[in-house]
Amino acid sequence: MTKADVARRAPGLWRWRELLPLRDDAYATSLGETMTPIAPLAHAGSAAGISGLFLKDEGELPTGSFKARGAAIGVSRAKELGVTAFAMPTNGNAGVAWSVYAARAGMRAFIAMPRGAPHEHRADCAAAGAEVELIDGLISDAGKRVAEVIALRKIYDASTLKEPYRIEGKKTMGFEIALQYGWDVPDVIVYPCGGGVGLIGIDKALRELRGLQWIGERLPRMVAVQAAGCAPIVRAWEAGARESAFWEDARTVAFGINVPKAIGDFLVLDAIRSTGGCAIAVDDDAIAAAQARLARDDGAHVCLEGAATFAAAARLRGSGWIREGERVLLINTGIPRNP
Ligand SMILES: *Cc1c(COP(=O)(O)O)cnc(C)c1O
Repeated sequence: MTKADVARRAPGLWRWRELLPLRDDAYATSLGETMTPIAPLAHAGSAAGISGLFLKDEGELPTGSFKARGAAIGVSRAKELGVTAFAMPTNGNAGVAWSVYAARAGMRAFIAMPRGAPHEHRADCAAAGAEVELIDGLISDAGKRVAEVIALRKIYDASTLKEPYRIEGKKTMGFEIALQYGWDVPDVIVYPCGGGVGLIGIDKALRELRGLQWIGERLPRMVAVQAAGCAPIVRAWEAGARESAFWEDARTVAFGINVPKAIGDFLVLDAIRSTGGCAIAVDDDAIAAAQARLARDDGAHVCLEGAATFAAAARLRGSGWIREGERVLLINTGIPRNP
């Protein structure tokens, strides 16, 4: 496989097949995923003093979020392994993506979701035939319920980082970034961090491409953005800790990043540290203002989680952490959802 091979193939996840875990293409489950666009945020960028500000829009994927990447590869590989039913906790988008790809693959899905998650998400899971259970509590409580169901029914655990393939799907985000920057990388990548799999996936992808010598030695500084009402990774980063501690009473309007304790927290912290990145929290007002500004100034109607990356980048430019002329890439993780 060469760069030219990849460039010649249809622009979807499967153009990266040699770097993905599926062995037999017959099990590939696809909804026609695309390569998501990267476009400049000219007006918002200039207002924030970042001339090289770009946005990668993951809302263009099937099911409306980057969770489609993990679900496409995770479900395909599970099918190849003979899995017929799985369970997972979710704040919404992962449940939708896994339910929809499960329908495509003829698998049964059990989804546990906090009652506070956006209503559209449960409707989408149910429409795809998943068994949805609403949980009074946070995603961590939904995770406990999933552990019970798995022990009881002896089905596949598709929880974040409990199976190794979802993250392989998320890698395709990093592969695409390198391809779209002409086999190079931006200076900074800003990512809204909940469970952190997306950030870990991008970092893993870029290290693999560096190992293949498809890109140079330099990696982008990875920035994990959290909400002020749920910022366990930021707290750990500031304290110089290797792991995060459970964040009590987590709450934010950006529901996708309302994760009080991420299983892969140490991997996120490693990725930020080893690339010279950082972790930063922004409050809900700043997130809402950023969402309004991006839509008004640049026609970019992003989700609240995606908007948080702009609020963070503006602050990092203000403090001088992002320097004049640097190329900064924001990740919009999905389409806006009604509460
Ligand atoms: C899941 C999700 C996130 C958090 O992604 P992680 O990779 O789990 O940190 C951010 N935004 C949206 C819209 C999500 O659905």
